[in-house]
Amino acid sequence: MAEYKYVTYETLDDGVIARIMLSREQSRNAQNRGLLVELDDAFLRAESDDTVRVVILGGAGPIFSSGHDLGSKEAIAERPGGPDAHPTFSINGGTRKGAENRMLQEWHYFFENTKRWRNLRKITIAQVNGTVYAAGLMLMWACDLIVAAEDARFADVVGTRLGMCGVEYFAHPWEFGPRKTKELMLTGDALDVDEAHRLGMVSKVFPTDELAERTLEFARRIAALPTMTALLIKESVNQSVDNMGFQNALAACFTIHQLNHSHWAEVHENRMPAALPEDGIASWREAPPIVLATKHEARADA
Ligand code: ZN
Repeated sequence: MAEYKYVTYETLDDGVIARIMLSREQSRNAQNRGLLVELDDAFLRAESDDTVRVVILGGAGPIFSSGHDLGSKEAIAERPGGPDAHPTFSINGGTRKGAENRMLQEWHYFFENTKRWRNLRKITIAQVNGTVYAAGLMLMWACDLIVAAEDARFADVVGTRLGMCGVEYFAHPWEFGPRKTKELMLTGDALDVDEAHRLGMVSKVFPTDELAERTLEFARRIAALPTMTALLIKESVNQSVDNMGFQNALAACFTIHQLNHSHWAEVHENRMPAALPEDGIASWREAPPIVLATKHEARADA
């Protein structure tokens, strides 16, 4: 797969830095299956290239990624049954029924791929801007470092918008802290970039119009380190958090996530695996806007 439809891949500085950009600007870089499969290919391409030392992952346009694609024309067309169905819906559990189908498909295309990118044998930098919601967080968190534009905001709204307990790769407590995760998931509120920096989730905050250039500058500093040193620093941190329970917690929370889907599928006549207005979750169109988590108000715009 040399050329991609939903992502771009380029190398810079004589091949030392690879830059992958999500390129579905018109869909706010929402993640359809085709994009996720291409992104995996692009990451593995960077990993296999011995000249590449650092991989930058960004999003074209004003928004890094708005999350999983839940309903664009392209996402609907690639579902099984139609002439443009994506071939990955007929493998990896896609031909099975019920919870088995959903669990296997989400394991391959939301969970295990994200873990694979997190463990990539290169240093990865997420270059994020605009709103980063729900599954957008998964892509960002899979990277070793996160740099952000001044306009970046972060929220997982699947609790308040879909009645779900979080995205498939539940890194929230490790990134936000346990209590902040409960607050953000139970309210659907967003963090601004300064708060994300204070938490240590974001390393650098750059002016929005200088994001690409300043990220490249930062990547060059890291690319100057011997590759073995960089890899073993990454591996020391990753193995530390794995020994603190990170991988086991991710696996446990993935199972809980599947239980949550199965609950909604079980109570709905149409088998919808997420909450509906009848369950007390506002529809996307009527839901109140996402506001910042502020210190002195119950809700920032109240
Ligand atoms: Zn899910």
